[in-house]
Amino acid sequence: LNQKCSCCRGQKNSLSQSGHVIRVDTFSGVLQVLTAKLSNVLYSLKVFLAKKKCVITKPLSAFVLSLSSEYRGLVKHTGGCHCGAVRFEVWASPDLHVFNCNCSICTKKQNRHFIVPASRFKLLKGAENLTTYTFNTHRAQHTFCKTCGVQSFYTPRSNPDGYGIAPHCLDDGTVHSIVIEDINGKEWEKAMKEHKTIRGMSKP
Ligand SMILES: [Zn+2]
Repeated sequence: LNQKCSCCRGQKNSLSQSGHVIRVDTFSGVLQVLTAKLSNVLYSLKVFLAKKKCVITKPLSAFVLSLSSEYRGLVKHTGGCHCGAVRFEVWASPDLHVFNCNCSICTKKQNRHFIVPASRFKLLKGAENLTTYTFNTHRAQHTFCKTCGVQSFYTPRSNPDGYGIAPHCLDDGTVHSIVIEDINGKEWEKAMKEHKTIRGMSKP
């Protein structure tokens, strides 16, 4: 279990690395361990089935995904553009960590976003209704709806293997809290060098 004991909380040591132990003699402790184990098993099963290119029925696939993901603290958010042509679902925490970037385009678009791995994002409809704007290094793909102009998600330069999702384009009901972190995209290279976690946010 990659958990932290109370004395190591906030540090990088996992329990196994630190050699510290937590007591699991309470019911909730036992439940926590079992839940984490079950989540790992289900996640492995999902990866195994995907590798074998198994055709599994939609309800089973959704069931496995929901168990493995929800047990890791994620929920399924849905969202889209203003006119409804573009719709997506995304698995992420109900407590969102949102970046407020001051680079030239994020300022103009007020493009606040949270980052997820590509595997947790699914475009439900509207691929043909998307158009893409790029500039400078052309790494970021600013995808937006051709009809209403809303950018509900995009591919950030910092995380080309993931997606940046606009929290303000999510449907009501699944967001519990939002923490906003300013990021100095004006000095992009410097900001990326200094930021410890942003690159990892698109890793599954
Ligand atoms: Zn639209």
